Amino acid sequence: MKKVLITGAAGFLGSHLCDRFIKENYHVIGMDNFITGDKKNLQHLENNPNFEFIEHDVTEFVSIEGGLDYILHFASPASPIDYLKIPIQTLKVGSLGTHNLLGLAKAKKARILIASTSEVYGDPLVHPQTEDYYGNVNTIGPRGVYDEAKRFQESITMAYHRFHGLETRIVRIFNTYGPRMRLNDGRVIPAFMGQALRGEDLTIFGNGMQTRSFCYVNDQVEGIYNLLLSDYSYPVNIGNPHEITIKDFAEEIIKLTGTEQRVIYKDLPVDDPLQRQPDISLAKKVLNWEPKVGREEGMKKTFEYFKSLSKEELYKSEHKDFNNHIRR
Ligand code: NAD
Ligand code: UDP
Repeated sequence: MKKVLITGAAGFLGSHLCDRFIKENYHVIGMDNFITGDKKNLQHLENNPNFEFIEHDVTEFVSIEGGLDYILHFASPASPIDYLKIPIQTLKVGSLGTHNLLGLAKAKKARILIASTSEVYGDPLVHPQTEDYYGNVNTIGPRGVYDEAKRFQESITMAYHRFHGLETRIVRIFNTYGPRMRLNDGRVIPAFMGQALRGEDLTIFGNGMQTRSFCYVNDQVEGIYNLLLSDYSYPVNIGNPHEITIKDFAEEIIKLTGTEQRVIYKDLPVDDPLQRQPDISLAKKVLNWEPKVGREEGMKKTFEYFKSLSKEELYKSEHKDFNNHIRR
């Protein structure tokens, strides 16, 4: 039985990846320190003999007994509000955490896949974004803690690949959504759906003309799985190229949820990218992958999930008023 270590396992993407590898009959070790994750995302695996969990902060030395075939490093805050709230931990998990996991991969002769992000392109001047675009990041802006940690992560990963001959893979993930996102993590989909469910107005930041391209979680996980098992060592964009303005997206959510609320406008956060759309030609070519789930179907499934949450979770307001601190 092949053995895989997944960091960030209690998070949104990490927990879905655990499910995917369990389904393929791997022995899965999940690791997390719960800083933005939730135990309940892994509850269903608790009694599975092929799953084990280690509570650990990956910025500290990581030790695993026995052999390891693969490592997927997904630990990192991912929502802008999360990483603005815990900037130092975000920098540490992308740098020190990645260094520890690369060292572990080298010691175990394991292949490692690193979760990078479309944020390495910053506020992109090339559209759609291709992997050979170097990006437009404000190193000292509030989002820099995430963007630069991820850029460093890519650099140190390539250095381990070139210098130590380590088998490495780098996925540049574009906005992904689905069940198990935290309702209050501040990202636009949980934000709008939570507002609709609570009967609040939907908050559009800026004029709403900024664009994003949303990928359903199952498609994302499939792309990551294919990349891990491929022999391609350079970064690959995985996302859904179907682009939409945030304003039009808010209208879609109003229709889907049937809310009678309207949209209200708030300031655009500092360095919020104005456009984002993955060019996925490379993924199509080297992974034979493309997304299959359309936004309508994916959003419906996601809304069903948020509807199923308790009242207590719906009204938990961990980030209330925090937005005010990140304005220009
Ligand atoms: P998430 O916040 O749901 O999950 C991240 C998990 O990492 C959490 O469970 C958290 O507790 C854990 N973690 C953070 N720091 C840790 C540390 N020092 N030690 C151990 N565990 C730690 O976020 P997500 O959306 O699932 O994102 C997962 C990964 O994918 C991140 O690396 C993120 O940068 C990347 N990514 C996600 C998206 C997206 O749209 N979801 C887009 C681009 C990149
Ligand atoms: N956004 C918004 N209202 C919200 C939350 C987010 O208009 O309540 C906007 C945000 O400014 C950004 C887009 O939606 O332009 C996507 O934001 P998200 O936090 O989901 O992630 P990002 O793509 O910026 O990393």
